[in-house]
Amino acid sequence: MKIFQVIAPFRSLILQKTEIKYQDEIKSAFYTAHQRTLHPSVTYLKSEEILKRVTTIIISEDNTHDHHAVHHFSNLVNDEIKHDSFMKRRVIFSDGCSSQYKSRGPFADLAQKETPTNRNYFGSEHGKSECDGEIGILNRALDRAIIGKQAIINKATYLYNYCQINLEINDPVSKRLFKLVKLGEINRKRNGTNIQNITNTGKFYQVLNKVKKNEIKVRNLSCFCKQCEAELYEKCLNSKYIECFTTKKLILLNKTGELQKSENVPKIKNLSQNIAVNQHVQVKSLMKYQGKN
Ligand SMILES: [Zn+2]
Repeated sequence: MKIFQVIAPFRSLILQKTEIKYQDEIKSAFYTAHQRTLHPSVTYLKSEEILKRVTTIIISEDNTHDHHAVHHFSNLVNDEIKHDSFMKRRVIFSDGCSSQYKSRGPFADLAQKETPTNRNYFGSEHGKSECDGEIGILNRALDRAIIGKQAIINKATYLYNYCQINLEINDPVSKRLFKLVKLGEINRKRNGTNIQNITNTGKFYQVLNKVKKNEIKVRNLSCFCKQCEAELYEKCLNSKYIECFTTKKLILLNKTGELQKSENVPKIKNLSQNIAVNQHVQVKSLMKYQGKN
């Protein structure tokens, strides 16, 4: 079974603002509105027999939008999908927001995933996708509930309870569910994702994992032609427009932000030899100082 997955950018929902617009609200509440994070993802599970759509909307009390949050939310979605099927391959589309999806942290997470994953990016701004439609459904339902005085929703837990009761779907080919993430639940002490900066990430639009340990493959555009689907990327039918994949090695840093021991550049034994390009200037000035110029 193949897994096709679409994830969307974070959406912050100001719950209190929605309520004061219509109902009995004290003025100070407008200025102390609480924010909660919504992270929708729409997944298509494809097999030879069936195509199933699963929407998972994460409601989070944690409003820090970084790759640790994305990793945590993705794991919740994956746990849910695993109930339905065995994952053979994943294809993921999202926008290219760097801090959440398209920088060294997210790439380190991608390289560590066990399932072969084909990661694709839309433009670098927040784009529109099916996920926005799901958030629209949620917003309209909340508006109706608040206008009709059917619900008081000023906390993430209240929102989660309301959505679970009123908006969840569990049909054979369509499912919508909600997950609650409480403050402090997201683990941000994950040194395995602390890697050296990767340059030009804005030019990556398709990224693959499962190359070698701590390596990813990147190219300038996404393609799903017959040859690319057969993983014969060098025979891509759109090679006129799309560059070949290049491999990027992910270099781990330690807690202080320095290269880990195994990644350190070997020591220079002879000043006249073994000069790495970026060390050239420094070594040359040292030779001058020693009178060897
Ligand atoms: Zn192709």
